[in-house]
Amino acid sequence: MVLEKSAPIQMQQIHHFENIIVGGGITGTAAAYFLAKEGNEVALCEQFDLNTQASGRNAGSLHGQIQFDPFHTLGFEWGKSFLPALKFLADSLDIWSDLSTDLETDLEVFRGGGLLVAETKEEMALLATKVELEQSIGIAAELLDGNQLRQKAPYIAEKMLGAAFSPIEGKANPLLAAPAFAKVAKKHGAKIFTGVEVFTITKNGNGYRLVTSAGDFTCKNILLTSNAGLTKLGANFGLSLPITDEPVQVSVSEIVSPFVKHLIYFSGERLTFKQAKSGSLLIGGGWPARINAEGVPVLNPDSLRGNMRVAIKVVPSISAIKIIRTWIGVGNGTPDHRPIIGEVAGYKGVFIGMFPGMGLTAGPLLGKTLAQLATGQLIDRNLEAFSISRFH
Ligand SMILES: Cc1cc2nc3c(=O)[nH]c(=O)nc-3n(C[C@H](O)[C@H](O)[C@H](O)COP(=O)(O)OP(=O)(O)OC[C@H]3O[C@@H](n4cnc5c(N)ncnc54)[C@H](O)[C@@H]3O)c2cc1C
Repeated sequence: MVLEKSAPIQMQQIHHFENIIVGGGITGTAAAYFLAKEGNEVALCEQFDLNTQASGRNAGSLHGQIQFDPFHTLGFEWGKSFLPALKFLADSLDIWSDLSTDLETDLEVFRGGGLLVAETKEEMALLATKVELEQSIGIAAELLDGNQLRQKAPYIAEKMLGAAFSPIEGKANPLLAAPAFAKVAKKHGAKIFTGVEVFTITKNGNGYRLVTSAGDFTCKNILLTSNAGLTKLGANFGLSLPITDEPVQVSVSEIVSPFVKHLIYFSGERLTFKQAKSGSLLIGGGWPARINAEGVPVLNPDSLRGNMRVAIKVVPSISAIKIIRTWIGVGNGTPDHRPIIGEVAGYKGVFIGMFPGMGLTAGPLLGKTLAQLATGQLIDRNLEAFSISRFH
């Protein structure tokens, strides 16, 4: 895909906008869309091209259940503490349903549900607890035994005992979503600047001044959607945000006839598995990449082998299918797996939005929430669990 380049900006000139967004991934472009659509003046600064970091490198899963890894490791109380974030994901999934129409682009959204497959009785017992937790806040979830699982997904290995079924999950094409948000935001008057890195942010009267690689910008509100870049930018406000970086890999197969309509996970080892609209299988689940001598994340053959071994264990019929490409993206997390959403204390008009691990799914609602915060709209949701202050 060729991304539109922004017109060169005149150096020395100061650009003023009511709202400036830093970051051109799914969150930033969604925020630009929701602000511009309501007639608000907004500019977005992205240091590279749009959608080139996590938002354009993910696996396209639309998540709507508590992830098994942290639930297994951190336990039931953690699961309970994650429920507000799960509700956030579920509400974002509702936005995804109509997004192709709203953005006038086929984003290849398909919500056929997700199956977290289990192999042992112990894992099935954990899934039962997890499903109850999800149901406790009205999220649709169901525990399936082996027969029910194979009725839904006959391609799953015979030895699997059952699964947690989340009917709200699905998939979308991550290469299309952020560019589509940006395109419609521009149509509504948003200014999108690519190749513009924000270096520092300081107070400037009742607003802020941003020093960037294309000169200075001033604004009333700043929406920081810079994900991995938040650690550095947060320091401008005295914040030390504990955002983690983990380079992980995703693989894509040759095109095969459609046979997988669900998003598949496995409780025994890391796996996400789905079939894209094109027919390719997308296989990931957070297997780590390797860091080379220059500090650059590169393919880790052991992870590739491990990822394929697990995929074949869960879906044996894929053993003869060819993998054509593996790519790497840096996944960003928070220590409690909860998002960071809110205004920075002592800096009126500065808002942060970051959703760890599942930010493609959360992106539309996160962008909308940031736009509502910046324009002082009432939000029908308690953001306390996502506050920045929990880290300080
Ligand atoms: C391999 C992989 C697989 C994943 N799979 C899934 C999945 O299947 N489903 C799911 O829901 N989520 C998934 N995720 C997570 C998801 O991709 C991210 O959570 C989400 O894309 C974050 O979006 P964002 O817009 O907040 O951040 P990003 O997409 O990272 O965008 C932030 C932008 O800010 C820019 N920026 C940073 N600092 C500055 C600065 N100083 N000046 C200007 N610009 C700056 C960056 O260049 C970047 O473009 C996956 C992530 C990875 C890496």
